[in-house]
Amino acid sequence: PGVQPPPDPKKKTLVILGTGWGATSLLKGLKTENFNVVVVSPKNYFLFTPLLPSCTVGTVDHRSVMQPIRYVTRHKKTAVQVLEGECTNIDPKTRTIVVEDNSDIRGSTSSTTLPYDYLVVAVGAENQTFGIPGVREYACFLKEIWDAKKIRTRLMDCIETAAFAGQSEEEIQRLLHMVVVGGGPTGVEYAAELHDFIVEDLSVWYPDIAGKVKITLIEALPNVLPAFSKQLIDYTESTFKENQIDVLTKTKVKTVKEREITVEEPNGASRDIPYGLLVWATGNTSRQVVRNLIATAPEKQKQRRGLEVDEHLRALGMDSVFALGDATATKYAPTAQVASQQGAYLAAVFNKLGAMEKDDAISPDLDTRLEAVKPFKYSHYASLAYIGSDKAIADVSFLNGNVSAGGVATYLFWRSVYLSNLFSTRNRCLVASDWIKRTLFGRDIGRD
Ligand code: FAD
Ligand code: NAD
Repeated sequence: PGVQPPPDPKKKTLVILGTGWGATSLLKGLKTENFNVVVVSPKNYFLFTPLLPSCTVGTVDHRSVMQPIRYVTRHKKTAVQVLEGECTNIDPKTRTIVVEDNSDIRGSTSSTTLPYDYLVVAVGAENQTFGIPGVREYACFLKEIWDAKKIRTRLMDCIETAAFAGQSEEEIQRLLHMVVVGGGPTGVEYAAELHDFIVEDLSVWYPDIAGKVKITLIEALPNVLPAFSKQLIDYTESTFKENQIDVLTKTKVKTVKEREITVEEPNGASRDIPYGLLVWATGNTSRQVVRNLIATAPEKQKQRRGLEVDEHLRALGMDSVFALGDATATKYAPTAQVASQQGAYLAAVFNKLGAMEKDDAISPDLDTRLEAVKPFKYSHYASLAYIGSDKAIADVSFLNGNVSAGGVATYLFWRSVYLSNLFSTRNRCLVASDWIKRTLFGRDIGRD
């Protein structure tokens, strides 16, 4: 089929790519009556990523941190079209995008071309592997809901295989060696959740095995959590030491094989480390669709890690393309905090542009229109991370300064912040009941 016509030809069409932090925050604040609004994403739900590490061991159930995007769109004044599909190409010259249904079940049509007047690229980022051989084949990432499910299944498989009759001691040690690569917040929070699971649950169900499980966190830089204050880095490293999580800093993973990795140690020597489960958390890289878009404006777009945008979040060198969150290369860290503030900002921008559409006296030129709109301004509130044994760390911006705290009280603060920031009352009830269930009955050790 050719280019699909918009539902209301009198209105401009605003296409939003993604249903993550940025896109959802934009949708929440957007007055949809001003545009034909189309949402395109391969996932039909929003995922609350801060609690994803908790899903890897069953502290929280994965369904509790997901919310269907139609929950937002169905409450809007004017209908929003939701397409579950992946945008595979963006052509800023013809102002069209190609959307493909890459899910398991496809109809007679699984590809379509859509026109847009405004496009918001909120597709997030992909896992960075630095091209290291073997990572994609043998390691587990921790970005999507299916990653958390895969880690949980593999972890229990390693445990049961280690418990299998006649397993050699050497093989048991390998199977029970859980290696995490990347000492950013994702790697640290995963190692922390895994530690809790071993101490609180495995020790009850598998008393002979739990004591043999070993966690190693590998980080290329001199310390973990480079974005946190020195005091909290030291606190995290000493908590990990107490919890017997081995932290190997200044150590780079060079190759990954099915049962072992090869690392370069601080002295330059090479060492093989056998593992049962490998979790890879070395940060972000741009998605293919974003890379292709960057290539359409080589004189303005100079960064490989994402789209460069101006003060109104408009992609440089592209007239009516806006971008936010992890899909962009800006001075801000790729966090949910940034993406959601950018989404809320773009909602205000489009609400203003929508109001201008109705006023013939205002020039239709987008540059002129945007002159009347304030630039994006980011406010940093806090950086939080869970570090295990009911302890969390927090760097909180306070009265133009920074307050750092770590410990059990910070964990209660961490919990209350996450609970209040969850998407809906439904999510809050589900997560709170997961926490209660875990306290009363422990985590489930079944392997699905
Ligand atoms: P995303 O939220 O990743 O959303 C991207 C969306 O685009 C998804 O819906 C995806 O399905 C969709 N998409 C992908 N490809 C296409 C395509 N081709 N076409 C259309 N749609 C597409 N940040 C914090 O501030 N605090 C935290 O505590 C925190 N914890 C985290 C824990 C983990 C385990 C991880 C992985 C990240 C965490 N982050 C946290 C970072 C935060 O999740 C990201 O910065 C945030 O998700 C970025 O938002 P986004 O909208 O740019 O992208
Ligand atoms: P990251 O980029 O923050 O950290 C990745 C780490 O991996 C880096 O410290 C890097 O030095 C290390 N690394 C890279 N290659 C390596 C190699 N070959 N061997 C060993 N180590 C290697 O990535 P992340 O932790 O996935 O976080 C991504 C983004 O999401 C960040 O902006 C982060 O702030 C955000 N996030 C925030 C939270 C939170 O606030 N609690 C939780 C998770 C993620």
